[in-house]
Amino acid sequence: MIDIQKIRNQFPVLKQQVYGKPLVYLDSAASTQKNIDVLLAERQVTLDFYGNIHRAAHFMADKTTQVFEASRDLTAQFIHAGSREEIIFTKGTTESVNLAAFSFGEAFIREGDEIIVSEMEHHSNIVPWQMTAQRKGARIVRWDFNEKGELELPELKRLINSRTRLIAVCHVSNVLGTINPVKEIAGLAHASGVTVFVDGAQAVQHIAVDVQELDADFYAFSSHKMYGPNGVGVLYGKRELLDAIPPYQGGGEMISEVSFSGTTYNELPYKFEAGTPHITGVAGFGAALAFLSKTRFADIEKHEKMLLEMATEELSKIGGVTIYGTSPRKSGVISFNMKGIHPYDAGMLLDKMGIAVRTGHHCADPVMEHFGIPGTVRASFAIYNTPEEVDRFIAAMKKIKEILAV
Ligand code: PMP
Repeated sequence: MIDIQKIRNQFPVLKQQVYGKPLVYLDSAASTQKNIDVLLAERQVTLDFYGNIHRAAHFMADKTTQVFEASRDLTAQFIHAGSREEIIFTKGTTESVNLAAFSFGEAFIREGDEIIVSEMEHHSNIVPWQMTAQRKGARIVRWDFNEKGELELPELKRLINSRTRLIAVCHVSNVLGTINPVKEIAGLAHASGVTVFVDGAQAVQHIAVDVQELDADFYAFSSHKMYGPNGVGVLYGKRELLDAIPPYQGGGEMISEVSFSGTTYNELPYKFEAGTPHITGVAGFGAALAFLSKTRFADIEKHEKMLLEMATEELSKIGGVTIYGTSPRKSGVISFNMKGIHPYDAGMLLDKMGIAVRTGHHCADPVMEHFGIPGTVRASFAIYNTPEEVDRFIAAMKKIKEILAV
């Protein structure tokens, strides 16, 4: 069982009032709030022993390096990577996708090849693949979802052919909330020698992830959606794949030797970590992982599912509400519209009632296009949300209907 009050106490920001009302924060899919330990870890590195990592041979740099590399170990454990060398620190999911798309593209994508991208992807798991396709003369093939917001495996089977090189798919959709069957997708892909890139930005904080069990070739996520600092992300890649692809950026740290007659690259993971990274952020990320690891994922899932089911049921009772994404395999995200009410208007009124949600296209234009809508209201739940907050959200939506519905 989760002790929500104990958890909430670690997020002082949640205690504040907005426009004189207690804050209800239902925008964790965009960014979670930060655990106090995260700030303390960043503060400790900043105030007690800050130095640039890896390079300098002095006490402070050495201490900072230890903290930085400890976060790498924690990350590897957290997603059950085969080794710490398979964990590349980036500035976020977006950079992780760009890295994979560029470097994989350079090594393995040729003219006439195909990259399958699911229709429910965030723009950051579409555009970098489009850029690679454009550079290499390859083609993007769209994998549509069904009316419940589910990707169907027979359809994937139909799309894979001898030209397919990679499938880009999210583990959990940031709009529909669907939890995709990554293991089965990887099984199908690997049977045809196709590589699988998984965008885990909306998964790692909600469900237990074991990249080896899933057999994902790449897996990307962002610290700021998992109670950690912004400006830090991860790209996991299978070692043999990371070894086989060239670096994404050149600079310090990623080299072994540099001369004007030629340069050799550093070993994994440093080959992909050019320049000074977000050192304090990575330290804070380690604290976020330690926080998340204190609660069993089975309990996190149970709690968030309870909030999702409650919100779904109560919202459906209001009448005139369309929910986008109705798969039974769903994470704590609920995207919806109320008849006759523009999502921006609903979001603005919710804000004035102290309730923070997201409105708009959620960086997933193809999903909006699928439903023929300009945007949705999206409420998303996290470990620190309570049933009382869901009640306040529902009461607010009823009030908005009274005020705005035609
Ligand atoms: N993928 C998904 C599914 C997301 O929800 C997001 C963030 N909204 C991203 C990628 C991009 O993450 P970031 O902005 O941290 O790079």
